[in-house]
Amino acid sequence: MEENKQTLYYDELLSILPDGVIIFDVSGEVIQLNRQALTELHVHPSVNEILPLPTNHLFKLLNKKEDILSTILQKIRQGEKTYSLPEHTFMQEQVDCTQFPIRGEFATIREKSKLKKILFFFRNITVELTQEYILNTALQRTRIYPWYYDISRSEFTLDDRYFEHLGIPAGENNTLTMEEYVNMIHPDDRQTMTDAFVVQLSGNTTFDKTVPFRLRRGDGTWEWFEGQSTYIANISGHPYRLVGICLSIQEYKDIENTLIEARKKAEESDRLKMAFLANMSHEIRTPLNAIVGFSDVIGSSYDELSEEERADFVRLISVNSEHLLRLIDDILDLSKIESDTIKFTFTDCSLKSLMMDIEKEQAVKSTSEIDIRAILPDEDIYINTDATRLKQVVCNFINNARKFTEKGYIHFGYAVDSIRADSVHIFVEDTGLGIPQECQKEIFDRFYKVDIFKQGTGLGLSICKTIVEHLQGEIFVESEVGKGSCFSVTLPFKRQAED
Ligand code: ADP
Repeated sequence: MEENKQTLYYDELLSILPDGVIIFDVSGEVIQLNRQALTELHVHPSVNEILPLPTNHLFKLLNKKEDILSTILQKIRQGEKTYSLPEHTFMQEQVDCTQFPIRGEFATIREKSKLKKILFFFRNITVELTQEYILNTALQRTRIYPWYYDISRSEFTLDDRYFEHLGIPAGENNTLTMEEYVNMIHPDDRQTMTDAFVVQLSGNTTFDKTVPFRLRRGDGTWEWFEGQSTYIANISGHPYRLVGICLSIQEYKDIENTLIEARKKAEESDRLKMAFLANMSHEIRTPLNAIVGFSDVIGSSYDELSEEERADFVRLISVNSEHLLRLIDDILDLSKIESDTIKFTFTDCSLKSLMMDIEKEQAVKSTSEIDIRAILPDEDIYINTDATRLKQVVCNFINNARKFTEKGYIHFGYAVDSIRADSVHIFVEDTGLGIPQECQKEIFDRFYKVDIFKQGTGLGLSICKTIVEHLQGEIFVESEVGKGSCFSVTLPFKRQAED
């Protein structure tokens, strides 16, 4: 009677277990299955009435494609008390022959150390594996790193990928002590992190704010992260473990910085544009006034003027007309660049002829104090370029040099680059005012002028830079205040094979 009660109690217990339980007799035949095992094996509960049955009527245990059940039972019969199934073990039920991954354990019931029954507990882990797979796939595709903090051991446990991502060695069992972790945080962010931890450790409170902070990478650089955590509490609401994630936000920070830079640039360009418009009326008016004024004087008092005065006024009209023309050309070029309609025609062009043409043109307007000369090597060089645009760049350099040089020389020319034989170096050197070091980067920006009171629009060099870029070259300046400047351009050059 007592034994019957115990069996009933024992059957009841087996039927509510969430794991499958299969009981074997010593010979290895199945003598009982609990409810979960029946469900997993797709068999009707009435099967319990026709037991015992050989195992292969009900299921197989497959690992690396082999049925391992008989080997396990053999080991147990030989004395092993428990046996855990190896990873990647599958159960195959024999009704529909479907297979599913399981985790499981064998145990034994002995009487006076004599083996009586063999118990097999197993769990179908399809759902667990699916979720694990989904989570791993999601984590691998993002820069989110889960972690947990064991409060009693003051120890962080982090994901493998976290150490890999930061390029630092993983601590023992992927753990870091609080001290090690704090040492990795940027000194300016430590307080914010400590505050967030204090709030979280106090428990009984939800804390769903994200905390941005920087961590030192293995190569010594800083990377921005965003941390978020929650806690697992005991029954009294006191946390015993913090769990959270770290998300790398460096990419967003970089984009944010680029946008801030771009906004600053746009604001600066806007400011310069406004200054340009204000300046423009003055720039156009000055030469126009001179042209109109001197033409009026010549027209109204032609006979009263001496030959010398007339020649002087005509020269002034010509200088101012030329200036006005250049101004308008610059504005037209700028608008072409803005609308991306600037056109280039590449042909083979002799640098020697180009420089000699420029020298002739400059000689016409040469002033006696400055020696304006082309310094040319014996060898002529042919490059494939847009000769008109290249001439525009060199003339712009020379015109600037003239504006800022009172005595000395302006020398210009070309040379094959001594270091890179596949590029040619074109230069304009003067002994003028020079440009302060701190302004040298900006002089290629639109509307930039070192001295806003000097004549000019601040457009010439930025136009030159764009042209040179279209010619696949680079533009440079070297300058020293009081000594002079050297503007140069390097352009690609392919020496023709000699016949
Ligand atoms: P601008 O029409 O005002 O000359 P640029 O873009 O050609 O415009 O030049 C920008 C500024 O660079 C000039 O205003 C001047 O301050 C400086 N600069 C250019 N070339 C020289 C030079 N050869 N010597 C000294 N300063 C120069």
